[in-house]
Amino acid sequence: MEKSQLLKIAQDYGSPVYVYDAEKIEQQYKRLTNAFKGVKQLKINYAVKALSNISVLKLLHSFGSGIDTVSIQEVQLGLAAGFPADKIIFTPNGVSLEEIETVTKLGVQINIDNLSILEQFGAKHPNIPVCIRINPHIMAGGNANISVGHIDSKFGISVHQIPHILRIVENTGMTINGIHMHTGSDILDIEVFLYASEILFDTAKQFKDLEFLDFGSGFKVPYKKDDIETNIEELGKKLTKRFNDFCKDYGKELTLAFEPGKFLVSEAGQFLVKVNAVKQTTSTVFAQVDSGFNHLIRPMLYGSQHVIENISNLKGKERFYSVVGYICETDTFANNRRINEINEGDILAFKNAGAYCYSMSSNYNSRYRPAEVLWHNNKAHLIRKRETFEDILKNQIEIDFSSKK
Ligand SMILES: *Cc1c(COP(=O)(O)O)cnc(C)c1O
Repeated sequence: MEKSQLLKIAQDYGSPVYVYDAEKIEQQYKRLTNAFKGVKQLKINYAVKALSNISVLKLLHSFGSGIDTVSIQEVQLGLAAGFPADKIIFTPNGVSLEEIETVTKLGVQINIDNLSILEQFGAKHPNIPVCIRINPHIMAGGNANISVGHIDSKFGISVHQIPHILRIVENTGMTINGIHMHTGSDILDIEVFLYASEILFDTAKQFKDLEFLDFGSGFKVPYKKDDIETNIEELGKKLTKRFNDFCKDYGKELTLAFEPGKFLVSEAGQFLVKVNAVKQTTSTVFAQVDSGFNHLIRPMLYGSQHVIENISNLKGKERFYSVVGYICETDTFANNRRINEINEGDILAFKNAGAYCYSMSSNYNSRYRPAEVLWHNNKAHLIRKRETFEDILKNQIEIDFSSKK
């Protein structure tokens, strides 16, 4: 997208506003399917939690994608977006047996990551095939909060508990039709991914009725210039060969599934904010913008660094700024960043704002959540209105304290 188009969107829809480039999402989808074109049955299940706007879901549906969901509400959103139940996989953690059963009734493939739930589910519904999520116990992922495959993680059933899984399967007569792992976000090294895959293959050998192997996600995308990213093409080459060999040994053509969130939508998103004030202090120059961690929490939550561009002054001289929000709490988007000279009223664009940005936003400080715009076929489409004061009060119940007893 051109900077002028972004500026126009900020003008037309106001700020702050999220903008997503549909073409970039499509490119990433094609890049991934291309990298694995040597696999006969490939399934991409977009991880809804990264960015769950229904128009984005519909866009991915139009490419042929399925979805990965972690709550019954995400399943319902997927169905509302037009995904048939057989294109949805449910991979929850720590949810109730009731929620899993309700999702099963919708015809959605479930993925169980807990022995106790597996046993209860198998005893009650031995005829419904389930996938199991294993924990391969490897350390992968860019940050402790997004590394979910290590020994202390709450996710998955330990690979050391396979004998117990097999016993449950035998005792209940249930069928395991898939094996799944998801080891964390931002995996830097494909060797780590391939190593974890070997553990998945070893596990898979022990189950006789498989239809698919799900390798989760965690592909890293570049956040700054010269940043490392997962080499999808190389991973595609290596894993395709290994997977096809495995299918031969297994004696059946299995489906290879992935569930990328960030890889598909991160780079497609930009978050546009307006500079309310420039504040010179004894130590730095703050650019104070009309947003905060209520709209984009990743820097405060993960220490993630989003590149910030001053799209109102692209030719301006570069100076150092700390970009901060308006939340009444420390609310730093970026420290000591080199940005083209900032004037009050300028529009700043945060890059990589497609994944885990809007979907993690809140009403903290009683602020409205921003609007969302999808750039598709050279046109801006509003896909979510900015909230209004009514949204803030919606669901609140007022008590009248005025009547004196
Ligand atoms: C969050 C999540 C994903 C997506 O991870 P990304 O790093 O965004 O690709 C995939 N699978 C499961 C089970 C998840 O919880």
